[in-house]
Amino acid sequence: MTTDTLTRTANVILLGPPGVGKGTQAQILVDTLGMVQLSTGDMLREAKASGSEMGKRVAEVMARGDLVTDEIVIGLIEEKLTQSRDAAGFIFDGFPRTLAQADALEALMTKTGQSLDAAIELQVDDAILVDRIVGRAEQARAAGQPVRADDNEDSLKIRLMEYYKKTSPLVGYYHAKGILKGVNGMGAIDTIASDLAAIVKTASA
Ligand code: AMP
Repeated sequence: MTTDTLTRTANVILLGPPGVGKGTQAQILVDTLGMVQLSTGDMLREAKASGSEMGKRVAEVMARGDLVTDEIVIGLIEEKLTQSRDAAGFIFDGFPRTLAQADALEALMTKTGQSLDAAIELQVDDAILVDRIVGRAEQARAAGQPVRADDNEDSLKIRLMEYYKKTSPLVGYYHAKGILKGVNGMGAIDTIASDLAAIVKTASA
């Protein structure tokens, strides 16, 4: 994959329900534009794998498909933002997920002298999400890879409800702030990736 360069830092949020492909797309932006992915889901899974006290506390909540507390995820993001700054910019993947997290992120960015350039909503039909997530679990199983504890239909339903109740209001929030963008999340991975890259490049111009 070719590495492009951005004229200036672009910090972007990827919004969208579970299974929409935020993680896959964030990874492509890391590979092609040299951005830094900040995934609170990955950070929480690392904490769980490390066996830390916090990891133990969140494991059950995550397996159920519920959201962990704002305090925990805001703390994780604060640590990253105060420790590092990246020339190409951050991709927030799976954070913020509540209005309180969105307010906290804005305050943290201001405090560290940074700004948010775009919140990009990956738009998708609910009906295909269940298939995608169940498919992801089946593929992992067939390949002998570990399956995420929350990739099953019961927790997916809870994750979707959490998304619509707590996270989808962020679409209106970022629209009101004038930084909301939408991308069709149902096409080919490459098409979505180039749509996202175009938005990031415009945001950094
Ligand atoms: P993800 O990998 O983004 O799908 O996140 C997996 C799980 O981690 C979620 O279902 C939540 O239990 C938890 N989680 C990740 N990010 C957040 C967040 N920003 N706020 C609350 N819970 C989160």
